[in-house]
Amino acid sequence: MTVVRRPDEEGLRRAAEILRAGSVVAFPTETVYGLGADAFTESAVAEIYRLKQRPSWNPLIVHVADVAAARALADVWPAAADELAARFWPGPLTMVVRRARHLPGIGAANDTVAVRVPAHDVALRLLRECGLPLAAPSANRSESISPTTAEHVRRSLPDVPLILDGGPCAWGIESTVVDLTDPVPVLLRPGALGLRELRDVTGTIGLPSSATADGTARPSPGMSRRHYAPRARAVLVPDVSDLSDLPPDAGVLTHEKAPYQGGAAKLEILSADPREYAADLYAALHRLDDAGVSTILIQSPPGSEEWLAVRDRLSRATAV
Ligand code: AMP
Ligand code: MG
Repeated sequence: MTVVRRPDEEGLRRAAEILRAGSVVAFPTETVYGLGADAFTESAVAEIYRLKQRPSWNPLIVHVADVAAARALADVWPAAADELAARFWPGPLTMVVRRARHLPGIGAANDTVAVRVPAHDVALRLLRECGLPLAAPSANRSESISPTTAEHVRRSLPDVPLILDGGPCAWGIESTVVDLTDPVPVLLRPGALGLRELRDVTGTIGLPSSATADGTARPSPGMSRRHYAPRARAVLVPDVSDLSDLPPDAGVLTHEKAPYQGGAAKLEILSADPREYAADLYAALHRLDDAGVSTILIQSPPGSEEWLAVRDRLSRATAV
């Protein structure tokens, strides 16, 4: 049975105690809720994989309190990492760098480590209190919708001993992951931090083969084709104003620029601003699932770059 606690001094002290004992704690970050464990203790990390039922090859992001702690995990800390950290940390940017030789690998990450400093007061206080680098993937069953509230975590992972409740996550979508192990940085996963902001610092960024236009599945490490998926069958449609013969138990997810007028068992209209849309997307998918709809018809988002992360998540949520 899980305990949900406020992240006050006593809650944080208890969380740190659990983490130092080699178990797991769910905690809020600015992106989504994370399921944290001591990153370089094998049994603690194994508990994350077990609870999430995450494939063992899929590596985890290590969360640390500051740049110095991140550097300590790296064998090589490139100049670009310093520049990006100065600009975006704490924040929703994960950097993949060569791992310090004395550290064990996580998942299938042979000689690299993915690291970030989260911009959430509770996450930072917890990192300082426990004094450990924390591996922390999203606190949900593998493939299902990521949690943006403590209640989402409780329902998805009822066996986590402790959840710190820090309210809803501000970004509501995962971090952007960039690989810095080669001279030209490569985007591994679009996310909360936009490509334009990244490019302002690094110049050219390599995109994995098909991350450009339609956000379809691609073989970058640790990225399953089906992910972030609701229980209901989810389908992307080019235009929700065109829906005819909607099944009576279907839900519709759209945004303010393409409102839907017809009869849906459950309707979610999100913002037409990509950041606001992303912030509410997972919660909306949770609400649609809670309403018991059999199918969710999702208005395809715009094709522009600001929508890259949303398109990526929706293409995975709708993959079969
Ligand atoms: P999640 O924690 O589920 O939000 O996903 C973590 C993401 O970070 C996955 O897409 C992984 O592929 C990526 N990742 C974590 N560690 C590494 C690494 N060492 N090399 C490349 N990608 C990584
Ligand atoms: Mg996840």
